[in-house]
Amino acid sequence: MWVVPESEIAGLMTPEAAFDAVEAVFAAMARGDAYNFPVVREAIGHEDALYGFKGGFDASGLALGLKAGGYWPNNQKHDLINHQSTVFLFDPDTGRVSAAVGGNLLTALRTAAASAVSSKYLAPKGARVLGMVGAGHQSAFQMRAAIRFGNFEKVIGWNPHPEMLSRLADTAAELGLPFEAVALDRLGSEADVIISITSSFAPILLSDHVKGPTHIAAMGTDTKGKQELDPALVARARLFTDEISQSLSIGEFQHAAAQKMISAEEVTALGKVIIGDHEGRGDAEITIFDGTGVGLQDLAVAAAVVDLARGKGIATEMAI
Ligand code: NAD
Repeated sequence: MWVVPESEIAGLMTPEAAFDAVEAVFAAMARGDAYNFPVVREAIGHEDALYGFKGGFDASGLALGLKAGGYWPNNQKHDLINHQSTVFLFDPDTGRVSAAVGGNLLTALRTAAASAVSSKYLAPKGARVLGMVGAGHQSAFQMRAAIRFGNFEKVIGWNPHPEMLSRLADTAAELGLPFEAVALDRLGSEADVIISITSSFAPILLSDHVKGPTHIAAMGTDTKGKQELDPALVARARLFTDEISQSLSIGEFQHAAAQKMISAEEVTALGKVIIGDHEGRGDAEITIFDGTGVGLQDLAVAAAVVDLARGKGIATEMAI
Protein backbone atom coordinates (compact mmCIF):
# COMPACT_ATOMS: atom_id res chain seq x y z
CA MET A 1 0.00 0.00 0.00
CA TRP A 2 1.02 3.63 -0.55
CA VAL A 3 1.27 5.97 2.43
CA VAL A 4 0.95 9.74 1.95
CA PRO A 5 1.45 11.50 5.29
CA GLU A 6 -0.50 14.54 6.40
CA SER A 7 2.68 16.64 6.28
CA GLU A 8 3.00 16.16 2.51
CA ILE A 9 -0.57 17.04 1.50
CA ALA A 10 -0.08 20.84 1.49
CA GLY A 11 2.72 20.55 -1.05
CA LEU A 12 0.77 18.22 -3.30
CA MET A 13 -2.92 19.18 -3.40
CA THR A 14 -4.02 22.40 -5.04
CA PRO A 15 -7.44 24.06 -4.64
CA GLU A 16 -7.90 23.57 -8.41
CA ALA A 17 -7.29 19.81 -8.16
CA ALA A 18 -9.73 19.59 -5.22
CA PHE A 19 -12.35 21.61 -7.13
CA ASP A 20 -12.03 19.40 -10.23
CA ALA A 21 -12.14 16.15 -8.19
CA VAL A 22 -15.25 17.23 -6.26
CA GLU A 23 -17.07 18.54 -9.34
CA ALA A 24 -16.31 15.27 -11.18
CA VAL A 25 -17.47 13.04 -8.34
CA PHE A 26 -20.74 15.00 -7.87
CA ALA A 27 -21.34 14.47 -11.60
CA ALA A 28 -20.54 10.73 -11.29
CA MET A 29 -23.03 10.47 -8.41
CA ALA A 30 -25.73 12.16 -10.52
CA ARG A 31 -25.08 9.78 -13.43
CA GLY A 32 -25.44 6.81 -11.06
CA ASP A 33 -21.79 5.76 -11.51
CA ALA A 34 -20.84 6.41 -7.89
CA TYR A 35 -22.61 5.96 -4.57
CA ASN A 36 -21.96 6.65 -0.91
CA PHE A 37 -22.37 4.07 1.84
CA PRO A 38 -24.49 4.88 4.91
CA VAL A 39 -22.55 7.11 7.31
CA VAL A 40 -21.55 5.88 10.75
CA ARG A 41 -21.10 8.76 13.21
CA GLU A 42 -21.08 8.16 16.96
CA ALA A 43 -20.63 10.26 20.06
CA ILE A 44 -18.14 7.92 21.74
CA GLY A 45 -18.57 9.35 25.24
CA HIS A 46 -14.89 10.29 25.49
CA GLU A 47 -13.46 13.81 25.04
CA ASP A 48 -16.88 14.85 23.63
CA ALA A 49 -15.67 13.31 20.37
CA LEU A 50 -17.74 12.41 17.33
CA TYR A 51 -16.14 9.50 15.49
CA GLY A 52 -17.24 7.76 12.33
CA PHE A 53 -16.75 6.45 8.81
CA LYS A 54 -17.76 7.81 5.44
CA GLY A 55 -17.22 5.58 2.44
CA GLY A 56 -18.34 4.79 -1.06
CA PHE A 57 -17.50 3.42 -4.48
CA ASP A 58 -16.99 5.35 -7.69
CA ALA A 59 -17.16 2.85 -10.56
CA SER A 60 -16.16 5.50 -13.13
CA GLY A 61 -13.09 6.71 -11.21
CA LEU A 62 -12.47 3.24 -9.67
CA ALA A 63 -12.19 4.70 -6.16
CA LEU A 64 -13.26 2.45 -3.28
CA GLY A 65 -12.65 3.19 0.38
CA LEU A 66 -13.51 5.20 3.45
CA LYS A 67 -12.50 8.10 5.61
CA ALA A 68 -12.28 7.31 9.32
CA GLY A 69 -12.08 9.99 11.96
CA GLY A 70 -14.18 12.80 13.30
CA TYR A 71 -14.37 15.85 15.50
CA TRP A 72 -12.50 16.26 18.81
CA PRO A 73 -13.59 19.63 20.22
CA ASN A 74 -10.91 19.76 22.95
CA ASN A 75 -7.90 19.17 20.73
CA GLN A 76 -6.48 22.63 21.30
CA LYS A 77 -4.95 21.35 24.55
CA HIS A 78 -2.93 18.88 22.46
CA ASP A 79 -2.01 21.61 19.96
CA LEU A 80 -4.02 19.78 17.30
CA ILE A 81 -6.94 20.84 15.12
CA ASN A 82 -10.39 19.54 16.05
CA HIS A 83 -10.88 17.45 12.90
CA GLN A 84 -8.74 14.32 12.70
CA SER A 85 -9.10 11.80 9.89
CA THR A 86 -7.36 9.33 7.59
CA VAL A 87 -8.53 8.10 4.18
CA PHE A 88 -8.05 4.43 3.26
CA LEU A 89 -8.32 3.38 -0.38
CA PHE A 90 -8.86 -0.20 -1.55
CA ASP A 91 -8.20 -1.92 -4.87
CA PRO A 92 -11.71 -2.48 -6.30
CA ASP A 93 -10.45 -5.53 -8.26
CA THR A 94 -9.01 -7.42 -5.27
CA GLY A 95 -10.19 -5.76 -2.05
CA ARG A 96 -6.63 -5.17 -0.89
CA VAL A 97 -5.88 -1.89 0.85
CA SER A 98 -4.00 0.30 -1.62
CA ALA A 99 -3.37 3.58 0.22
CA ALA A 100 -3.52 5.41 3.55
CA VAL A 101 -3.65 9.18 3.21
CA GLY A 102 -3.68 11.92 5.86
CA GLY A 103 -7.20 13.34 5.74
CA ASN A 104 -7.12 16.57 7.75
CA LEU A 105 -6.11 19.12 5.14
CA LEU A 106 -7.91 17.11 2.45
CA THR A 107 -11.16 17.44 4.44
CA ALA A 108 -10.82 21.21 4.57
CA LEU A 109 -9.93 21.43 0.88
CA ARG A 110 -12.72 19.13 -0.32
CA THR A 111 -15.31 20.89 1.88
CA ALA A 112 -14.23 24.29 0.59
CA ALA A 113 -14.24 22.91 -2.96
CA ALA A 114 -17.84 21.68 -2.54
CA SER A 115 -19.15 25.11 -1.59
CA ALA A 116 -17.12 26.71 -4.39
CA VAL A 117 -18.60 24.22 -6.89
CA SER A 118 -22.09 25.07 -5.57
CA SER A 119 -21.40 28.79 -6.10
CA LYS A 120 -20.15 28.16 -9.64
CA TYR A 121 -23.53 26.68 -10.56
CA LEU A 122 -25.92 28.52 -8.21
CA ALA A 123 -24.59 31.98 -7.29
CA PRO A 124 -26.60 34.92 -8.63
CA LYS A 125 -25.01 36.58 -11.68
CA GLY A 126 -22.53 39.31 -10.80
CA ALA A 127 -22.01 38.14 -7.19
CA ARG A 128 -19.51 40.56 -5.62
CA VAL A 129 -20.04 40.41 -1.83
CA LEU A 130 -19.18 37.26 0.10
CA GLY A 131 -20.76 36.78 3.54
CA MET A 132 -19.09 34.46 6.04
CA VAL A 133 -20.94 33.02 9.04
CA GLY A 134 -18.34 31.19 11.13
CA ALA A 135 -14.70 31.88 11.90
CA GLY A 136 -13.28 28.51 12.93
CA HIS A 137 -10.58 26.40 11.28
CA GLN A 138 -12.65 25.63 8.15
CA SER A 139 -13.72 29.21 7.53
CA ALA A 140 -10.35 30.32 6.12
CA PHE A 141 -10.37 27.45 3.60
CA GLN A 142 -13.94 28.28 2.64
CA MET A 143 -13.09 31.92 2.05
CA ARG A 144 -9.95 31.11 0.05
CA ALA A 145 -11.82 28.75 -2.29
CA ALA A 146 -14.78 31.14 -2.72
CA ILE A 147 -12.45 34.01 -3.66
CA ARG A 148 -10.30 31.85 -5.94
CA PHE A 149 -13.23 30.58 -7.97
CA GLY A 150 -15.50 33.66 -7.76
CA ASN A 151 -15.32 37.39 -8.53
CA PHE A 152 -15.79 38.83 -5.06
CA GLU A 153 -14.73 42.38 -4.21
CA LYS A 154 -15.55 42.42 -0.50
CA VAL A 155 -16.02 40.02 2.43
CA ILE A 156 -18.38 40.63 5.33
CA GLY A 157 -18.67 38.29 8.29
CA TRP A 158 -20.30 37.38 11.58
CA ASN A 159 -19.39 34.80 14.20
CA PRO A 160 -21.08 33.73 17.44
CA HIS A 161 -17.72 34.25 19.16
CA PRO A 162 -16.63 37.74 18.01
CA GLU A 163 -13.10 37.25 19.34
CA MET A 164 -12.56 34.74 16.49
CA LEU A 165 -13.41 37.25 13.73
CA SER A 166 -9.73 38.14 13.33
CA ARG A 167 -9.33 34.90 11.36
CA LEU A 168 -11.74 36.22 8.71
CA ALA A 169 -10.09 39.65 8.68
CA ASP A 170 -6.62 38.08 8.34
CA THR A 171 -7.71 35.70 5.57
CA ALA A 172 -9.41 38.48 3.60
CA ALA A 173 -6.24 40.60 3.98
CA GLU A 174 -4.13 37.68 2.73
CA LEU A 175 -6.43 37.57 -0.33
CA GLY A 176 -6.23 41.33 -0.83
CA LEU A 177 -9.91 42.03 -0.11
CA PRO A 178 -11.56 44.40 2.37
CA PHE A 179 -13.32 42.78 5.33
CA GLU A 180 -16.02 44.15 7.58
CA ALA A 181 -17.62 42.51 10.63
CA VAL A 182 -21.38 43.12 10.42
CA ALA A 183 -24.63 42.17 12.15
CA LEU A 184 -26.56 39.24 10.69
CA ASP A 185 -29.30 41.38 9.13
CA ARG A 186 -26.72 43.39 7.20
CA LEU A 187 -24.91 40.23 6.21
CA GLY A 188 -28.15 38.69 4.93
CA SER A 189 -29.16 41.74 2.93
CA GLU A 190 -25.75 42.67 1.46
CA ALA A 191 -24.06 39.35 0.70
CA ASP A 192 -24.66 37.76 -2.71
CA VAL A 193 -23.18 34.47 -1.53
CA ILE A 194 -23.21 33.37 2.12
CA ILE A 195 -21.12 30.51 3.47
CA SER A 196 -22.12 29.21 6.89
CA ILE A 197 -19.52 27.02 8.57
CA THR A 198 -20.13 26.77 12.32
CA SER A 199 -20.77 23.91 14.73
CA SER A 200 -24.07 25.44 15.84
CA PHE A 201 -26.99 23.41 17.22
CA ALA A 202 -29.54 26.23 16.77
CA PRO A 203 -30.49 28.44 13.83
CA ILE A 204 -28.17 31.42 13.30
CA LEU A 205 -29.30 32.87 9.96
CA LEU A 206 -33.01 33.65 10.13
CA SER A 207 -35.43 34.03 7.25
CA ASP A 208 -35.91 37.75 7.99
CA HIS A 209 -32.16 38.34 7.71
CA VAL A 210 -31.88 37.28 4.07
CA LYS A 211 -32.87 39.47 1.12
CA GLY A 212 -32.17 37.87 -2.24
CA PRO A 213 -30.88 37.26 -4.76
CA THR A 214 -28.62 35.14 -2.60
CA HIS A 215 -26.89 31.78 -2.70
CA ILE A 216 -26.21 30.14 0.67
CA ALA A 217 -23.71 27.32 1.06
CA ALA A 218 -24.64 25.73 4.39
CA MET A 219 -21.51 23.73 5.22
CA GLY A 220 -21.42 23.35 9.01
CA THR A 221 -24.20 20.85 9.64
CA ASP A 222 -22.94 17.31 9.19
CA THR A 223 -24.48 15.58 12.21
CA LYS A 224 -27.96 14.98 13.60
CA GLY A 225 -28.99 17.92 15.78
CA LYS A 226 -26.63 20.54 14.30
CA GLN A 227 -28.34 23.52 12.68
CA GLU A 228 -27.32 26.84 11.13
CA LEU A 229 -30.40 28.01 9.20
CA ASP A 230 -33.96 28.92 10.13
CA PRO A 231 -36.26 26.21 8.67
CA ALA A 232 -38.47 29.05 7.34
CA LEU A 233 -35.46 30.26 5.29
CA VAL A 234 -34.96 26.73 3.97
CA ALA A 235 -38.66 26.46 3.09
CA ARG A 236 -38.42 29.72 1.09
CA ALA A 237 -35.42 28.67 -1.01
CA ARG A 238 -34.63 26.41 -3.96
CA LEU A 239 -32.75 23.49 -2.42
CA PHE A 240 -29.63 21.60 -3.51
CA THR A 241 -27.30 19.20 -1.76
CA ASP A 242 -24.46 16.77 -2.32
CA GLU A 243 -26.45 13.67 -1.25
CA ILE A 244 -30.20 13.88 -0.64
CA SER A 245 -30.48 11.10 1.98
CA GLN A 246 -27.61 12.60 4.02
CA SER A 247 -29.08 16.08 3.72
CA LEU A 248 -32.40 14.97 5.17
CA SER A 249 -30.88 12.83 7.95
CA ILE A 250 -27.68 14.58 9.12
CA GLY A 251 -27.51 17.73 6.99
CA GLU A 252 -29.03 21.19 7.29
CA PHE A 253 -32.32 20.17 5.70
CA GLN A 254 -33.03 17.58 8.47
CA HIS A 255 -34.89 20.25 10.48
CA ALA A 256 -37.22 21.63 7.78
CA ALA A 257 -37.89 18.02 6.67
CA ALA A 258 -38.71 16.89 10.24
CA GLN A 259 -41.12 19.82 10.57
CA LYS A 260 -42.70 18.82 7.22
CA MET A 261 -41.84 22.25 5.78
CA ILE A 262 -40.02 20.62 2.84
CA SER A 263 -40.15 17.21 1.17
CA ALA A 264 -37.38 15.08 -0.35
CA GLU A 265 -38.79 15.87 -3.82
CA GLU A 266 -37.89 19.54 -3.36
CA VAL A 267 -34.18 18.79 -2.89
CA THR A 268 -31.95 18.37 -5.97
CA ALA A 269 -28.51 16.77 -6.07
CA LEU A 270 -26.01 19.43 -7.22
CA GLY A 271 -24.59 16.83 -9.62
CA LYS A 272 -27.84 17.05 -11.63
CA VAL A 273 -27.08 20.71 -12.30
CA ILE A 274 -23.46 19.89 -13.17
CA ILE A 275 -24.48 17.29 -15.78
CA GLY A 276 -27.20 19.57 -17.18
CA ASP A 277 -30.22 17.63 -15.90
CA HIS A 278 -31.49 20.57 -13.80
CA GLU A 279 -31.58 24.29 -14.55
CA GLY A 280 -30.10 25.22 -11.16
CA ARG A 281 -30.95 28.69 -9.85
CA GLY A 282 -33.54 29.57 -12.53
CA ASP A 283 -35.67 32.44 -11.22
CA ALA A 284 -35.23 31.50 -7.54
CA GLU A 285 -34.62 34.40 -5.12
CA ILE A 286 -32.63 32.22 -2.73
CA THR A 287 -30.74 28.98 -3.38
CA ILE A 288 -29.25 26.84 -0.63
CA PHE A 289 -26.61 24.15 -1.06
CA ASP A 290 -26.56 21.79 1.92
CA GLY A 291 -22.99 20.49 1.94
CA THR A 292 -23.15 17.49 4.22
CA GLY A 293 -19.78 16.08 3.16
CA VAL A 294 -19.81 12.72 1.39
CA GLY A 295 -17.27 9.91 1.51
CA LEU A 296 -16.85 10.02 -2.26
CA GLN A 297 -15.45 13.57 -1.99
CA ASP A 298 -12.77 12.23 0.37
CA LEU A 299 -11.94 9.31 -1.89
CA ALA A 300 -11.75 11.58 -4.95
CA VAL A 301 -9.25 14.00 -3.42
CA ALA A 302 -7.27 11.19 -1.75
CA ALA A 303 -6.97 9.27 -5.04
CA ALA A 304 -5.79 12.48 -6.75
CA VAL A 305 -3.18 13.04 -4.03
CA VAL A 306 -1.87 9.45 -4.24
CA ASP A 307 -1.34 9.90 -7.99
CA LEU A 308 0.45 13.22 -7.42
CA ALA A 309 2.59 11.77 -4.60
CA ARG A 310 3.58 8.70 -6.62
CA GLY A 311 4.40 10.91 -9.62
CA LYS A 312 6.73 13.02 -7.45
CA GLY A 313 8.25 10.03 -5.63
CA ILE A 314 6.84 11.24 -2.29
CA ALA A 315 4.52 8.29 -1.48
CA THR A 316 6.03 5.50 0.65
CA GLU A 317 5.27 1.91 -0.34
CA MET A 318 4.62 -0.53 2.51
CA ALA A 319 3.59 -4.15 2.74
CA ILE A 320 0.59 -4.96 4.92
P1 NAD B 1 -13.95 25.04 14.78
O1 NAD B 1 -14.13 24.34 16.07
O2 NAD B 1 -12.60 25.46 14.35
O3 NAD B 1 -14.88 26.38 14.77
C1 NAD B 1 -16.22 26.29 15.22
C2 NAD B 1 -17.06 27.40 14.64
O4 NAD B 1 -18.41 27.24 15.12
C3 NAD B 1 -16.66 28.79 15.07
O5 NAD B 1 -17.14 29.72 14.13
C4 NAD B 1 -17.39 28.95 16.41
O6 NAD B 1 -17.59 30.31 16.78
C5 NAD B 1 -18.71 28.28 16.09
N1 NAD B 1 -19.34 27.62 17.24
C6 NAD B 1 -18.77 26.82 18.15
N2 NAD B 1 -19.68 26.39 19.05
C7 NAD B 1 -20.86 26.93 18.66
C8 NAD B 1 -22.19 26.87 19.18
N3 NAD B 1 -22.48 26.15 20.25
N4 NAD B 1 -23.16 27.55 18.54
C9 NAD B 1 -22.87 28.27 17.43
N5 NAD B 1 -21.64 28.36 16.89
C10 NAD B 1 -20.64 27.70 17.51
O7 NAD B 1 -14.65 24.12 13.70
P2 NAD B 1 -14.36 24.03 12.14
O8 NAD B 1 -13.29 23.06 11.92
O9 NAD B 1 -14.25 25.38 11.55
O10 NAD B 1 -15.73 23.33 11.63
C11 NAD B 1 -16.94 24.06 11.62
C12 NAD B 1 -18.09 23.11 11.34
O11 NAD B 1 -17.94 22.56 10.02
C13 NAD B 1 -18.19 21.91 12.29
O12 NAD B 1 -19.54 21.73 12.65
C14 NAD B 1 -17.72 20.75 11.43
O13 NAD B 1 -18.24 19.52 11.85
C15 NAD B 1 -18.25 21.18 10.08
N6 NAD B 1 -17.62 20.53 8.93
C16 NAD B 1 -18.42 20.15 7.91
C17 NAD B 1 -17.87 19.52 6.79
C18 NAD B 1 -18.74 19.14 5.64
O14 NAD B 1 -18.30 18.41 4.75
N7 NAD B 1 -19.95 19.63 5.57
C19 NAD B 1 -16.49 19.28 6.74
C20 NAD B 1 -15.70 19.72 7.79
C21 NAD B 1 -16.26 20.35 8.89
